[in-house]
Amino acid sequence: MQFNEMGLDPRILKGIEAMGFETPSPIQEQFIPVFLKEPKDIVGLAQTGTGKTAAFGLPILQTIQPFNRVPQALILSPTRELCVQIAREIKEYSQFLPEIVITPVYGGADMNAQVKALRGGTHIITATPGRMHDMIRKNKVDLSQISILVLDEADEMLNMGFQEDLDAILSMTPKEKFTLLFSATMPSEVASIAKNYMTNPLEISVGKKNSGAENVEHIYHMVHAKDRYLALKRVLDFVPEVYGIVFCRTRQETGEVAAQLIQDNYSAEALHGDLSQAQRDFVMDKFRNRGVQILVATDVAARGLDVNDLTHVVNYNLPDDFENYTHRSGRTGRAGKSGVSISIIHMKEHGRIRQIEKTLGKKFLRKAVPSGKEICEKQLFYLTDKIQEVAVNEEEIGPYLPSVFEKFNHFSKEELIKQIVSLEFNRFLDYYGNTPDLNIPDSHEVSKKSRQVQPTLEGLTKFRLNVGLSKGISPKEVINFVVDATGRRNVEIGRIDLFGSYSVVEVEDAAGKALLRNSRGMSYRGTFFDVEVYNENRGERFQRGGRRGDAFPRNEGRERRDDFKRFERKRRY
Ligand code: ADP
Ligand code: MG
Repeated sequence: MQFNEMGLDPRILKGIEAMGFETPSPIQEQFIPVFLKEPKDIVGLAQTGTGKTAAFGLPILQTIQPFNRVPQALILSPTRELCVQIAREIKEYSQFLPEIVITPVYGGADMNAQVKALRGGTHIITATPGRMHDMIRKNKVDLSQISILVLDEADEMLNMGFQEDLDAILSMTPKEKFTLLFSATMPSEVASIAKNYMTNPLEISVGKKNSGAENVEHIYHMVHAKDRYLALKRVLDFVPEVYGIVFCRTRQETGEVAAQLIQDNYSAEALHGDLSQAQRDFVMDKFRNRGVQILVATDVAARGLDVNDLTHVVNYNLPDDFENYTHRSGRTGRAGKSGVSISIIHMKEHGRIRQIEKTLGKKFLRKAVPSGKEICEKQLFYLTDKIQEVAVNEEEIGPYLPSVFEKFNHFSKEELIKQIVSLEFNRFLDYYGNTPDLNIPDSHEVSKKSRQVQPTLEGLTKFRLNVGLSKGISPKEVINFVVDATGRRNVEIGRIDLFGSYSVVEVEDAAGKALLRNSRGMSYRGTFFDVEVYNENRGERFQRGGRRGDAFPRNEGRERRDDFKRFERKRRY
């Protein structure tokens, strides 16, 4: 089906044409005509880069009544960047419908200015849930005529803890409206939003659920954890024209890796939530305009960043949440292009690769980290290509040439080439001249260390909470929870271990019963606590995101700090 067979307004078709869209993407093809014919609640499942924005944006434009300058559509998305991007994209589709106003509303920016923009009259609001909820609470926005509500990147909004805001917004918008939910994945939290707030939604799913982009090659390199950064450098040096994102797991790691790369002369910038909005904008623009080759980013900061043509995605660390791997690798191989997703792992992460392969339904290829010699070769040919291809500005350089020729008079052609190439190339030779192989030989593979059981001091019992780092829980919040549940300010708490999807906390025996009983019905960022006595033998460490701290050798300090957090015992609160 073509765009002009979908029942779209001719002015919208003109806009699509002006943007250069020739044929609709699968989600657009399945979504647009169905919704235009008979509007209904729809759940759209599709990986990133499949054109979801137009899938909901075009039908929205079609339903807006321009003469009625009140918000008629509300589009919620997880980050300010996405919010702005969606507004910009829809503005472009509507270039031949100039009377339609689209207003982005997001946190971290002056609320009064946004309120003013809304007062000036608008038809479509793109918003982050937190700021929208704020506006509703302060009575700054009229949602009484919203007829279409979009939840874009719903899984990510929930990951980011927007559940409460979403609940509030969903219940404040008119009952008679159509709700469209888009998500790359369908975890139970998303399914329950669909269940609670949507009426018999039609499910449209494009491609296999959870599958990465088809034309992405998944590669991993296995190195010792201490060599991770060195391996990253080699990966980057091996593709001189890399234009890609290096994903890290934490803000801190992102900052550290970026700073190190910059110091080592790479064209890199960090993108993470600790930066101010202005800094983030600056970095994103710079990356989009190719003013920088490598973006080092956290999952959240990079989510939805619409940059096409990435050559590589590098997983400096595997994500805690496997679903994020899909998102990460989906940043490359977009729009029919081929892409490469490289993961740098250490020996103990082998099992996680297998897990991701299963989730993704695709095989990873284990490749050797490029050797110093291979990198030098690659860089050398890159350099010679560059010398061949460089455009010579005859007019400008002409006047200087006679004296330049004069200077190089005594060099032979061969000598001169050697000199020029060395100028650029010496730093690779210096660096890689005699470097060791970083690869771990196969025979070495994954020695399964026997698990030591951490002894618990007398009088304390270990409890398992179903909430962990992935929900953003902190030790302090675990303590507050235990204090609240037991109702005892001076309850004795021992060690607290935070894992990806769960936590383990030692609590004095005497308070155990109260903890188990009273925790029922208490919740953390939208998840009800489920507390049980921790069972050492449950084999938790191979579950999603959760790994036992004991699996990490002591000398991997930095590794361990990010993967797993432990707080030493015997404090009284
Ligand atoms: P998603 O939200 O699914 O991740 P986007 O809506 O951001 O994807 O679209 C990804 C890119 O593809 C954007 O640059 C968009 O302009 C472009 N795009 C969308 N639909 C089409 C189409 N039918 N033809 C060509 N390019 C398209
Ligand atoms: Mg999108």
